Amino acid sequence: MDNKLSEIIDLDKKYYLNTFGDRTPVCFERGEGIYLYGTDGEKYTDFFAGIAVNALGHGNPAVVNAIKEQADKLIHCSNLYYIESQARLAQLICENSCAERVFFCNSGAEANEGAMKLARAYYKKRDGNDTKKNTFICLNKSFHGRTITTATATGQDKYKQPYTPLTPGFVHVDINDIEQLEKAIDDTVCAVILEPIQGESGVYPLDFEYARRVRELCNEKDILLIFDEVQTGVGRTGRLFGYQYLGVEPDIFTLAKALGGGVPIGCVCARGDVVNGFAPGDHGTTFGGNPLACAAAYASLKTIIDMNLAENAERMGNKITELMYSIYDNSAIRQVRHAGLMIGIELSVPIAAAVRKELFDMHYLVGSVGDSILRVLPPLIITEQDCVDFKNAFKLAVRKASVYAHC
Ligand SMILES: *Cc1c(COP(=O)(O)O)cnc(C)c1O
Repeated sequence: MDNKLSEIIDLDKKYYLNTFGDRTPVCFERGEGIYLYGTDGEKYTDFFAGIAVNALGHGNPAVVNAIKEQADKLIHCSNLYYIESQARLAQLICENSCAERVFFCNSGAEANEGAMKLARAYYKKRDGNDTKKNTFICLNKSFHGRTITTATATGQDKYKQPYTPLTPGFVHVDINDIEQLEKAIDDTVCAVILEPIQGESGVYPLDFEYARRVRELCNEKDILLIFDEVQTGVGRTGRLFGYQYLGVEPDIFTLAKALGGGVPIGCVCARGDVVNGFAPGDHGTTFGGNPLACAAAYASLKTIIDMNLAENAERMGNKITELMYSIYDNSAIRQVRHAGLMIGIELSVPIAAAVRKELFDMHYLVGSVGDSILRVLPPLIITEQDCVDFKNAFKLAVRKASVYAHC
């Protein structure tokens, strides 16, 4: 380990709250395209993209220049004033999606909080302050963020257990079970919140037919449909937005991760009557939608659209999946679930962490979920050769990890 890295690790261990435990022992100083360079002088191939953030890889010139130019002119000003890059980004999102209006914040969790506030506020405005419609139906195994309310919406106990009492008004049902959802509906339900593809818990897509039925039920029962597209948005699934992949339009959807090209930004997107849920003063933010973040996001989203990277994500995602099944003969892979470049590789043996470690030793970055799922989220700019190289590394990593597992 190089001196700089060990110094940084010592500082982290001493001064940072211990939320991340023993991190992977590397510190990146620089990035270019799909590659990262550490303080050790080594080159790493990034197949995790900062958890689906760096859709354009690292150091994309359009994004870097937009940030530099905006930083030279003006980094921040309050939402008390009109903001050019904010207005232009809002237009770009609305003209390329079903959204009619947007609101910018700083993270995925904050975007989901905004979406839930908008849903409740909408029914209060429409039906009066004592309306009963304030319950959210969410899915088990979902992930919606780490504020107390988004952790409440999240369908995994480990994210909530230390933080009780939780926010009232949430119920959870199983993914792709329309009967359970139907049973959970009563006249208190204001919205159903779904990830088009559950990411954090291991890449579990909604069935197309289920998504269609949920939309129908929401229409019949006067319930809003909210899609958490913090991870599925901005090209990741092979469509610009995950709702297009599913073929079902939500009333509200949220964006964050890939939106800002690496600069923190979140977005609440809404269409139809629900846009009237917020009146002046109902919601707000200090940093959200500031000139710098919106300039970065505009450049990033525009580049993704102009380069048609959603289509590349679809092609490369199919390619990686095909290549993974071509090593099926070693029987280590149980299933590959994917939409575009949102990929979950489920192993038939519980060695996911070991495979991730072997890949890291070969200088590939991926994620893992639980004992047996690898999470692969490359930048959307990867080529077929990158897919082939990854397959070869993956095959070797699985072989090595299986050998140790049997020792
Ligand atoms: C990452 C993620 C979030 C939380 O986003 P933060 O920016 O970490 O708050 C919420 N929902 C989904 C689906 C995510 O993948």
